[in-house]
Amino acid sequence: MTLIARRRRVRPAAAGAAGPKPRAGTKRRRRKPDPIKAWVKRLDRTRPGLVTFVLEGLADRYGHPSWDRRLDPTSELVLTILTQNSADVNAEHAFVALRAAYPSDRPSEHHIPGPGWGGAGLPDGVPPDWALVDAAPLEELVEVIRPGGLPNGKAKGIKAALRAIHEARGDYSLEFLGEMTALEARNWLTAINGVGVKTASVVLLFSFGLPLMPVDRHVERVALRVGLIPPKATADEAHEVFLALLEPDEMLEAHVNLIQHGRSICHARNPAHELCPLIDRCRFVNPKAP
Ligand code: SF4
Repeated sequence: MTLIARRRRVRPAAAGAAGPKPRAGTKRRRRKPDPIKAWVKRLDRTRPGLVTFVLEGLADRYGHPSWDRRLDPTSELVLTILTQNSADVNAEHAFVALRAAYPSDRPSEHHIPGPGWGGAGLPDGVPPDWALVDAAPLEELVEVIRPGGLPNGKAKGIKAALRAIHEARGDYSLEFLGEMTALEARNWLTAINGVGVKTASVVLLFSFGLPLMPVDRHVERVALRVGLIPPKATADEAHEVFLALLEPDEMLEAHVNLIQHGRSICHARNPAHELCPLIDRCRFVNPKAP
């Protein structure tokens, strides 16, 4: 079945389905329209088939990535904190340093080595001992993760996250999140100080395959240029727009391929339009593109 056939349509309200009429002399209060729903409806009306066009164009170029768990969710959370404002490969060096400085022996949690989505991929190994990381003096942890860049804020963020998980659960495992719905799990993680929607979405998408769409700077740039998300959307709004635009089983592919496209063709400076499979419908190149 093609993406076009599977995509749900936004249906207009049925006639007579608007509820009871207000009594004479009373004014019905107008509900403020939901800006996310309004955007999705508008895109569907004015640029039909755009999401499908983008997904299929990117899949032709980059393929259909499939989900495989590479890391347990606590490791994914810490690695994602380490990638904030740093190159993925540097974050991976910092994570390997964490394993060496705070070793544990839990073969059941063995990380699956392999290519990363952005970095080189982590080498073979087991997660660090999170209790040792939690108990480590801050200055020591800063030195250990220094290869990842911006170590002061990240060391604080890692310790705060581990402490919050331990206080809530009595251990450092986040496996219980896999039993929740995607949004319940995202809410649980974002309640931790310093864990935002993007970080939580990365953890849940990659560790459990939950249908969430992390929006990083590459995803945001390509989506804004093509016109998939509103020009003034905040980062958090962009996450919600994608959840409304995409089917659950499209989110991993959309995330991975939009990042790939932002890295290889749709650069922040000098995007290679001539190589781009999306050029016919890109509003950055043609403000009147269909
Ligand atoms: S046409 Fe250019 S700006 Fe538009 S998505 Fe492609 S590379 Fe980016």
